[in-house]
Amino acid sequence: MLTTTGKLMMSREKSALAMERARKVIPGGVNSPVRAFKAIDGKPVFIKKARGNVLLDEDNNRFTDYCLSWGVAITGYNHPHVRAAVHEAIEDGTTYGTATEYEVVLAEKITSHYPSVEKVRMVNSGTEAVMSAIRLARAYTGKHIILKFDGCYHGHSDSLLVSAGSGLAETKSSSSGGVPDKLVEYTLSLPFNNELAVTKAFEKYHNQIAAVIVEPVAANMGLINPREGFLKHLEKISRANKALLIFDEVITGYRFGLSGAQGFFNITPDLTCLGKIVGGGFPAGAFGGKASIMDMLAPDGPVYQAGTLSGNPVAVRAGIATLELLEDKDFYRHLDMSFQILRERLMETEQEFNVTIHTFGNMFSIFFGKHLIHSFSDVVNTNTALFAEFYKSMLEEGIYLSPSPFETHFISSAHTIQNFSDFNDALKKSLKKISVKYE
Ligand code: PLP
Repeated sequence: MLTTTGKLMMSREKSALAMERARKVIPGGVNSPVRAFKAIDGKPVFIKKARGNVLLDEDNNRFTDYCLSWGVAITGYNHPHVRAAVHEAIEDGTTYGTATEYEVVLAEKITSHYPSVEKVRMVNSGTEAVMSAIRLARAYTGKHIILKFDGCYHGHSDSLLVSAGSGLAETKSSSSGGVPDKLVEYTLSLPFNNELAVTKAFEKYHNQIAAVIVEPVAANMGLINPREGFLKHLEKISRANKALLIFDEVITGYRFGLSGAQGFFNITPDLTCLGKIVGGGFPAGAFGGKASIMDMLAPDGPVYQAGTLSGNPVAVRAGIATLELLEDKDFYRHLDMSFQILRERLMETEQEFNVTIHTFGNMFSIFFGKHLIHSFSDVVNTNTALFAEFYKSMLEEGIYLSPSPFETHFISSAHTIQNFSDFNDALKKSLKKISVKYE
């Protein structure tokens, strides 16, 4: 099919057929909602293969990927070192449901990278890591209330699916159906980057707050950096009130350094949640912290937490192999240098167009319009309606971005300078296409 410019338009026929079949047997056709491309056209690409930074879809279209399985694939897909470790692991059997020495190796690695983590337990996803950390925080402090921030995402456990404005004294409602109001009564959601709101919450709910949970760099409402002093404030006020500070580093963990955002900002959270990168492309997460807190977990303590496939031998060996790559002293240095090249281009493009581009580490997001963006309400004020057309244009240019205006984009060590030139050309082209709509 030809476009109006005479360019050959990519076929997505096989993906469309797969979606049609999927819709009959899988709710919404997908196993995780954002994959359905609802923010775009409801026509997701079905992927059959990935290598390096390239996704190949069922129609044999190739995309340079800046979603990277939502930040997982930091070393690129199918890295030979990880692949070899996985092959070896499979030879030994894929699960035993009992302890293995590799789990100890992975735990030793994590505790050596994260000074705040003295003990760590493996789970199967980021959601599970956070859910378990919350239970532990409540048991440890003997308090119930969890303070979170609007627009931060911590997985889909009941207590954390709370929309802005809900809380003890306000509308007690969940952002999901099926969660009884009683369950979200104990969750407060405040504006990100608002120190005063946090101080006031601690005054109001004096002695009732068990934990403050935060994405130290918010990456689930587009990318929003913490304002200077915000994280320190959370650390101080939590400590002063005997509440735990939980860093949800499911995205930031291992993303721009071995010790995550806590290493970067020099903060010592009481508990840390990891996911994505730590599983090396397999379903794994982890939560950890001070030994005195972690020792409250069963079997030594009264807080129950378990998992048939937790610490799965294949996932653990993929995780170890991935961390081995990241431990190379040049890994993050190269990634940083590489991202600087993309960043410079992005900043030039930002000058030329009516967009606001945020970057942190090697992550970025693009907001439509010129705005100061520090919180979820600021994001909502941007022109998210333009995203669908922008996204479709980028896809046509062979670029796969995270398919939602509220997500963050990533690079991997497999991305090249040529990729970044191509990306920026595609970006400019796509912004030109949509710019008439908002100049
Ligand atoms: N926490 C953060 C910061 C996340 O971004 C996510 C998922 O994107 C989660 C928790 C939940 O992780 P999972 O999707 O592995 O359950």
